[in-house]
Order: sequence, then structure tokens, then C-alpha cells
Amino acid sequence: MELIIKNANIVGTDGKLELKNIVVAGGVIQQIMDASEQAALEDAQVIDAQGKLVSAGFIDMHVHLREPGFEYKETIETGARSAAKGGFTTIACMPNTRPVTDNPETVKLVLDRAKEADLVHVLPYAAITKSELGRELTDFPALKESGAIGFTDDGVGVQSAQMMKDAMKWAAELGMPVIAHCEDNTLVEGAPVAEGEFARKHGLKGIPNESEAIHVGRDILLAEATGVHYHVCHVSTEQSIRLIRQAKEIGVKVTAEVCPHHLILSEEDIPGLDANWKMNPPLRSRRDVEACIKAVEDGTIDIIVTDHAPHSEEEKERGMQLAPFGIVGFETAFPLLYTKFVATGKWPLAQLIQRMTADPARVFGLAAGKLEPGAPADLTIVDLETERAVDPSTFASKGRNTPFTDWKLKGWPVATIVSGKVVWSE
Ligand SMILES: [Zn+2]
Repeated sequence: MELIIKNANIVGTDGKLELKNIVVAGGVIQQIMDASEQAALEDAQVIDAQGKLVSAGFIDMHVHLREPGFEYKETIETGARSAAKGGFTTIACMPNTRPVTDNPETVKLVLDRAKEADLVHVLPYAAITKSELGRELTDFPALKESGAIGFTDDGVGVQSAQMMKDAMKWAAELGMPVIAHCEDNTLVEGAPVAEGEFARKHGLKGIPNESEAIHVGRDILLAEATGVHYHVCHVSTEQSIRLIRQAKEIGVKVTAEVCPHHLILSEEDIPGLDANWKMNPPLRSRRDVEACIKAVEDGTIDIIVTDHAPHSEEEKERGMQLAPFGIVGFETAFPLLYTKFVATGKWPLAQLIQRMTADPARVFGLAAGKLEPGAPADLTIVDLETERAVDPSTFASKGRNTPFTDWKLKGWPVATIVSGKVVWSE
């Protein structure tokens, strides 16, 4: 299938927008030429981007698709469609399904369902321990062989240092990354929100910053000892960032991610006991938010991920203490970040795009993430002008659980192209 995208505004090497025509054939970007030049390709589908932004498709390395086992929350198909609607062309899904993706059959099932959905690239992670119980390592070589791209017990922290060290040794030997949800359970004890003013005011237990940072510190030492590529999930505290920054300085192979909500919201913003504001890690202090923003700016945090975590309405109505952790993320991520950081002049557009495309590709060794001839034709067209309010009833995701309802945002994706094929358009 051949495709020409006319009048595409792309971010040039100097960071300025340049009007181009993009020629795609065989699922690959063939040519990027000045918009004034005639792009001739017989029988090609032509899309006129009318000066809208065209970027390499966004990559989200931390998502929950809920299938198998929790199809009432999301399926691989609805999740992949939601991702496409948010401008994502590659997503990496977490193994905390039912059964847990701790065996080659489940990895294969995820890959098969993703293929049937035929929307975006879906890359499965496999669990570090069987059923994510922290007791017994999974079969790393078999899981790699079946198509898993890394190992993680996301949803819970690996409590045993010895277990984590063994996992890192195996992963290092296989040239695979370990991706860690950092949380020491002994410091959490069922708390639903972060320590702070909100928890005090509502008489709730608080999750302290150390519960995350203690695992980050422990794992950095283990990564140094084993030589593994260690990737920290959803960083949310100033202390974790300090440790990651130091580790990078001395050459430990550590990378890190942050979610849009931890860059935008603090515990002070939580309006009341509404579980759409409950996620793990929780919203922390303004000081932590500022540290996360700075870490994205200086590269201590390499990439931005959504931690898309759909739940049913009924589950989220159980209240702050009992509702499950998590919010949906695909369909609001880019508009939120664009509106809050780029439209306000804080970040260059090129930097935001890099943290959502080229950087995740670099960190995880993916071919995608670049807008250049020879790269996969995974592309996103974004309207940077039109302002629209977030309306969860329009989400392609089954999940409606977002704290951003009614937020007025710009930067909405209007079409998403995967391997040269339009998989979603407005
Ligand atoms: Zn997690």
C-alpha cells in the first residue's frame, strides 16, 4: 500500500516546523520532500495533512490491556484502538493479567490477539515471578523465545532482594531489560494515597516516598552488580530521581519513565474522595512534581509513558480506600503534555516528541520512533490548534476512569498510521 501525506508539518533538525510531503511504500517511509515538490506515486492514497503536525508515532512502554482475564475492563482490541486514538503506534503491555503472563502460551495469546486486532504494534512483557507472587522465577529463556521483550512484576514490587538479583542475572545473560515497579510493601500497608495534606485531612493512611525510593536504591546496587539494563517504572518521587541521577553519573545501566499525571497533578489537586484520582504510585507533593519535570528536562527520566490502567465504573465507585489503583491514559496523554508544557512555552515541541518516540525506541532498542527515510511508516497526525474538553464518554477505551474530565486541551491526534496503513482517523 502506497501513501502520500501532503502538507505535513514536521519538526526539523533545528526544532522548527517544516512543511513537507511524506512518501510511504511497503510500510516504510521512502522520502520526505519539500511540500512544493510533486510527490508522484501511482495509485497512492493521498492524505492532505493541511499543515497539521506529523510525528513519528508515539511509543508507550507501560500499559495495561487487561486481556486475558479482565476483559470487562479492557480487551487487547479496545486497548489498541484507544492507543491508536491517542496517537500511539507501539505499546508494551504489562503481565498482570489473569493468568499472569508468566508462561509462553500467554505471551503467544497476547501476540495473537494483537495481530487479530491489527491496529498498533503490541509488545508483551513477561512476569519476573510466577503469578507475580515474588516466590519463584519464571522461565526467562522460554519467555524471551516466545516473544516477551522484558521482565517485570508491574503492579507489585519484587520484595526479595535475592529474587531481584537472580532475575537481573538471568536477564543480563539474555540481554533483556528488567522493568521494575518499585514499592516496598512494609512501608505501604494498604494506604490509598500519598502521605501529605490530603491523607491527613481525610484520615487516610499515606504512602511514603521512601516506599518507592528504597526499591530504586536497592535495585540500582543490584543492577550495578549484575550489569543488567534496569528500567524504573513510573518514577514519582524526588528521592528516586536523586538516586537515578547519581546512578547514571557513575555509569550504571539505568533508565526511567514518568507518567503525565505525575508531571501535572499533585496531592493538593485531589478534589475529594473520588477514586478517579487514585493511582499507584499516588499523586505526591508539588515538590515531587517539580522534580519529575526537571528530570524529564535534563534527561534523568528518559521517557514518558501513560500507565494506561482501565477499570470499570463500578470498581471505581467503591471509594478511595477500596477502589483499585489506576487511570486511563492513552487518549489524553499527548494533549495534556502539549497543552501544559509546549503551548505554555516551557518545553520545545521537539523535546516532548523525543521523549515519546525516539527515546523509548533508544531505551528498548526498537526500530520505530524516527521520522526519516528508511524508518517504519508509523506516523501520527496531530491538530495543535483546536481546543476541546476531555469527554470520557467518547473514549475508545472501555475505561472512563480519568481525573482530567472537562479539562480544555489542545494537541489532539486526528489520524494514526501503522506500517503505512491508516488504523484510526477522526
Ligand atoms: Zn506499576
